[in-house]
Amino acid sequence: MKEIFRIAIDGPSGAGKSTIARRIAAELDIDYIDTGAMYRAVGYKMKLQCIVADQKQRLQSMLENTDIDFVNGDIILDGEVVNDKIRTSEISRMASVCSALPEVREKLVDIQRKMGTRKSVIMDGRDIGTNVLRDAEYKFFLTASAEERAGRRYRELLDKGESITREEVLRDIIQRDHNDMTRELNPLTKAEDAVEIDTTGLTIQQVTDRILSYIE
Ligand code: C5P
Repeated sequence: MKEIFRIAIDGPSGAGKSTIARRIAAELDIDYIDTGAMYRAVGYKMKLQCIVADQKQRLQSMLENTDIDFVNGDIILDGEVVNDKIRTSEISRMASVCSALPEVREKLVDIQRKMGTRKSVIMDGRDIGTNVLRDAEYKFFLTASAEERAGRRYRELLDKGESITREEVLRDIIQRDHNDMTRELNPLTKAEDAVEIDTTGLTIQQVTDRILSYIE
């Protein structure tokens, strides 16, 4: 195995990417970069500052004054740990909207590429294998049925005390899939050289083992 290697994991919301990527990172002792959390952090800051998508100047100056990093698995936005604040369904929608904005993608992709050159990483998102780390050594594309993905997300949100119905979560997932797949910039698609894994009916451990078997 090369000294520095990159693993790209892409797929739609709720396919299990982040849980699995975190496990693989721990197993291989490499850094995990959750790029969805970065779009969420920007969506969260847009909400805090009441910036809407067409306020280009305000958006640009906000982005110039935004610092996003990961420290010990925490996402840090301008010096503050925002792990929990960005995991609400409202911020999911904000992230989906802001991820279609060219200014936002340009800034975040730039940071992500830099993170991918420092040391070995596993990075998950929508455009990692096709854009951010096009030359990653390992690429995977995780899928699962919309119903299964909605069920997983619903249980997560319930655990956090959000009052939301399963139908609302399913509707949100379908809308976000649509946004991700139809946006002009870096839409969600499987890289030609990615290994596709349908996680429907598989446990987290089974998917993790399957990915590790390719890498090891
Ligand atoms: O993965 P997660 O659901 O946390 O991502 C939040 C949002 O960020 C997604 O709805 C998606 O639109 C966007 N995203 C993206 N590109 C990435 C990662 C996430 O557009 N690489």
